[in-house]
Amino acid sequence: MPLAQVTLNQLRHIVGAEAVLTEPEDLIPYSFDGTAAMRQMPGCIVFAQTTQQVAAVLKLANETRTPVVTRGSGTGLSGGSLPSTDCVVLCLVKMNRILELDRANLTMLVEPGVTTLQIADAATGAGLFYPPDPGSMKISTIGGNVAENSGGLRGLKYGITRNYVMGLEVVLPNGEVCWTGNKCVKDVAGYSLRDLFIGSEGTLGVITKVLLRLIPKPATKKTMVATFAQMDQAAQTVSDIIAAQIIPCTLEFLDRTTIRCVEDFAKVGLPLDCEALLLMETDGHPAPVAEEAAKMEECARKNGAMEVRVAKDEAEANKLATARRSAFSALARLSPTTILEDATVPRSELAKMIRFVAAVAKKYNLRVGTFGHMGDGNLHPTFLTDERNKEEMHRVEEAFKEIFDEAIRLGGTITGEHGIGVAKKSFLPKFAGDAQMRVMRELRRALDPNGILNPGKMFD
Ligand SMILES: Cc1cc2nc3c(=O)[nH]c(=O)nc-3n(C[C@H](O)[C@H](O)[C@H](O)COP(=O)(O)OP(=O)(O)OC[C@H]3O[C@@H](n4cnc5c(N)ncnc54)[C@H](O)[C@@H]3O)c2cc1C
Repeated sequence: MPLAQVTLNQLRHIVGAEAVLTEPEDLIPYSFDGTAAMRQMPGCIVFAQTTQQVAAVLKLANETRTPVVTRGSGTGLSGGSLPSTDCVVLCLVKMNRILELDRANLTMLVEPGVTTLQIADAATGAGLFYPPDPGSMKISTIGGNVAENSGGLRGLKYGITRNYVMGLEVVLPNGEVCWTGNKCVKDVAGYSLRDLFIGSEGTLGVITKVLLRLIPKPATKKTMVATFAQMDQAAQTVSDIIAAQIIPCTLEFLDRTTIRCVEDFAKVGLPLDCEALLLMETDGHPAPVAEEAAKMEECARKNGAMEVRVAKDEAEANKLATARRSAFSALARLSPTTILEDATVPRSELAKMIRFVAAVAKKYNLRVGTFGHMGDGNLHPTFLTDERNKEEMHRVEEAFKEIFDEAIRLGGTITGEHGIGVAKKSFLPKFAGDAQMRVMRELRRALDPNGILNPGKMFD
């Protein structure tokens, strides 16, 4: 049912008339997120600027049973901020202040619309370090990062968003404001509700403040690129590095298709005559960094690396990391529709999984580029297709079914970082099993009995 005029008027009263958009041409940019082939027009867009406004919007929505889809920058890759029919899209990009940088406790308090890059830059400016660095960090918001529990290129050594969230202010679906967590390093008082909201994909509450943990900045780092004639050699190098008890901060890989696209796009001088490329980075104090870099190079050479190139300075290292971050955008230039997936397996199964993806692409006659966080076992098989070609889209769906089944069979998961949203919800019951599904449904019902927050996401 379209949004009632009276509800729209009340929303205008809460946030101001200029902060409510209803014209179709204004709604179109909010009718999709980063996920391919999914679109739905919302009822209106509401830009909140304070926690009190968020609370009033949710109270009204709860009373009028109006669906609300919270949105950061809309870069999600599982349809999490895809609108539901006639919903209110509650956009938080204007809540974008860094509220406090506490050097004594090494914390930063921010509003949810601050971008990941702004947080990283503010930490660097204070001589500190905020490690989570999703490929989308220039535009993704910290609210979206927490809601998706996003990972990044440094996840192997430093962990993911969850490892840096000390506290959250959350507005519950009935409009009540709840603080969970604090600046204490240790706190076991009650259930860890903070952990419940991290990764909840906008289904349990709206995050309006985030208290982040910062760490000391590593003194130095070394960045290297190794190229291989065969994918298995790269996978074995990763296994050997881990087995040698080295935990690099970055172990990323690109396959041949992705390397070519990235080089064409970013022009950083990547070698083009190889089947696989590993981007390896180690950081910390100079002596262990030098030792680890030498051991990593040795592992690569032992596995037949064609070339191991060490970045000569910080500028070249940043260029290489930026090139890796551009993998998705680079592949997206090749076809009208780019479907990036997120299958993750234990690291010992990586080579098997990579071979499987290539075989499935061949079986269904599809074009695929694969890249990802190899050190985390997190692969992004990316199918290059055209959503107007229904028959090909059907083959893509069948290919993904096989890929997720294989990931589960190998002891992996259906998503390592992009979340369930709409895109993966049909796979969740098989992965999670009956007991987990029941508990998740009951938790959701307990917090949001009227089902107003992000309906139809994660499960029906
Ligand atoms: C080029 C590219 C590269 C990417 N690289 C990575 C990567 O390396 N690692 C990774 O993990 N992801 C990656 N992503 C996916 C995406 O950027 C992340 O999921 C990101 O955290 C989403 O942030 P956002 O602000 O765009 O959130 P949105 O897409 O707007 O929202 C994502 C979800 O969070 C919910 N949400 C947003 N804000 C709030 C809030 N304040 N309170 C409650 N719920 C909220 C929404 O309802 C939705 O369910 C990439 C995406 C792109 C397009």
